[in-house]
Amino acid sequence: MSSRRRRIYEGKAKILYEGPEPGTIVQYFKDDASAFNNKKKGTITGKGVINNRISEYLMTRLNEIGVPTHFIRRLNMREQLVRQVEIIPLEVVVRNVAAGSLAQRFGIPEGQALPRSILEFYYKNDQLGDPMVTEEHITAFGWATPQDIDDIVALALRVNDFLSGLFLGIGIKLIDFKIEFGRLYEEEMVRVVLADEISPDSCRLWDLKTNEKMDKDRFRRDLGKVEEAYQEVARRLGILLDPGAGDHRGPVTVQ
Ligand code: ADP
Ligand code: MG
Repeated sequence: MSSRRRRIYEGKAKILYEGPEPGTIVQYFKDDASAFNNKKKGTITGKGVINNRISEYLMTRLNEIGVPTHFIRRLNMREQLVRQVEIIPLEVVVRNVAAGSLAQRFGIPEGQALPRSILEFYYKNDQLGDPMVTEEHITAFGWATPQDIDDIVALALRVNDFLSGLFLGIGIKLIDFKIEFGRLYEEEMVRVVLADEISPDSCRLWDLKTNEKMDKDRFRRDLGKVEEAYQEVARRLGILLDPGAGDHRGPVTVQ
């Protein structure tokens, strides 16, 4: 693993290590899962391996259409090299269909299509339980400038349009997702880029035909078959994950 490298930060789902070159970091994807502001904890066997691949795939596709991201390259089963950014402390949520906290707060049945995509900001702060905030709070407290917010909104909507179509093409509805952005400093320039990860941990994904959940709600709501659902998302994306190649599995006994 990465015992050689200096550990910068350990979060709920990933560990960050100092990267090989200045301005780079290594994201190590763990199997740890958490929900409801860390009140529910567990592990999803093999999740880190799958999310590393899915996030690599989606960030690469987004890069190709001109959405700037922190992603550089995948290093191995659980690690990817990314550009170190100054994380903007916001969780940016884009919703297409009512689910989760939106369905709860407004009493809208889960699964009801929204009249238009809705974008929400949450202040990224575990102690405070990631409270929802408005642009007023964001600019007043200096978490981001009005220009940052403009960039974030434009990028988030492009990500939503692109990923909605991409998932639809493989029989999956993109219900909602959470993304994070960071400031990338290069050559006296600073720009806002997509950071962190995009995976079934951070998206709600429903099967188009059956509405079956294929994301972390299976863990949140104890629906079972969590790893299988993540695997199925990877499979439909065309990411071949040899079940024997995961570092989480022992030798397979052939009957
Ligand atoms: P958390 O428990 O805070 O959500 P994670 O387990 O998701 O943490 O670990 C990833 C952490 O690294 C997050 O805090 C995220 O904001 C941060 N991060 C993601 N991408 C980058 C990057 N390119 N540079 C610096 N920090 C990043
Ligand atoms: Mg996180």
